[in-house]
Amino acid sequence: MRTPIIAGNWKMNNTIAATKALVTELIPLVKDAKAEVVICTPYTDLATAVELTKGTNIKVGAENVHWAEKGAFTGEISADMLLELGVTYVIIGHSERRQYFGETDQTVNARVKAALAKGLKPIICVGETLEEREGGKVEEVLVRQTTEAFKDIAEDALENIVVAYEPVWAIGTGKTATAEVANDTIKIIRDTLARLYSAKSAEEKVRIQYGGSMNPKNVKELMAMPEIDGGLIGGASLKAVDFSLVVSY
Ligand code: PEP
Repeated sequence: MRTPIIAGNWKMNNTIAATKALVTELIPLVKDAKAEVVICTPYTDLATAVELTKGTNIKVGAENVHWAEKGAFTGEISADMLLELGVTYVIIGHSERRQYFGETDQTVNARVKAALAKGLKPIICVGETLEEREGGKVEEVLVRQTTEAFKDIAEDALENIVVAYEPVWAIGTGKTATAEVANDTIKIIRDTLARLYSAKSAEEKVRIQYGGSMNPKNVKELMAMPEIDGGLIGGASLKAVDFSLVVSY
């Protein structure tokens, strides 16, 4: 019912030359992927990635977007600028932005609204820290992050939004949430969306990915879980063969 979606998050990796090499290697390897395939690249690589993937099954995303249309925001990038490049998706609220760059639930919401208003599809990241999990706060944190991110978002926009559940303790650490933990936690997010909108929309419209050290070895087990609709992939998206194995799970 929900089409699986697997997105690479390149983070601050790959020059234009490296992008050319990686995308060229990736195209034939992922052509029969079981999921919708997205690569989210640094701003400087977007034009190259869009150009190379034209006519293929790979869509391109950015890693952030500013909430204002334009103006005095030195160093920022607007939704119009991304759209002009041919970008389809945009990651919003990644835990690294929350941890290092002052991203809050409110700025996440502002970015989501700006992206949707222009026709970009947000991949909204939520997830608890290890301290929050050990302190029994998983539900509280996820309900808060989800509720704030979706504030003032209309129900008919839901089909254009992807949520990525990324436990912070599993990102780049090699530690993966077990498939059961990932599934149960994603259910908390879906139940929150059902309360905010309707059970039908939460069930049918919103795709929720798991992210956190997903790789060719654990992807099958994770993707077999009923609540997991895909993955947001960091480290394993930087190697064409690994990423192709993940999207072909
Ligand atoms: C991420 O950065 O979104 C991520 C999931 O990274 P990794 O796969 O490397 O844990």
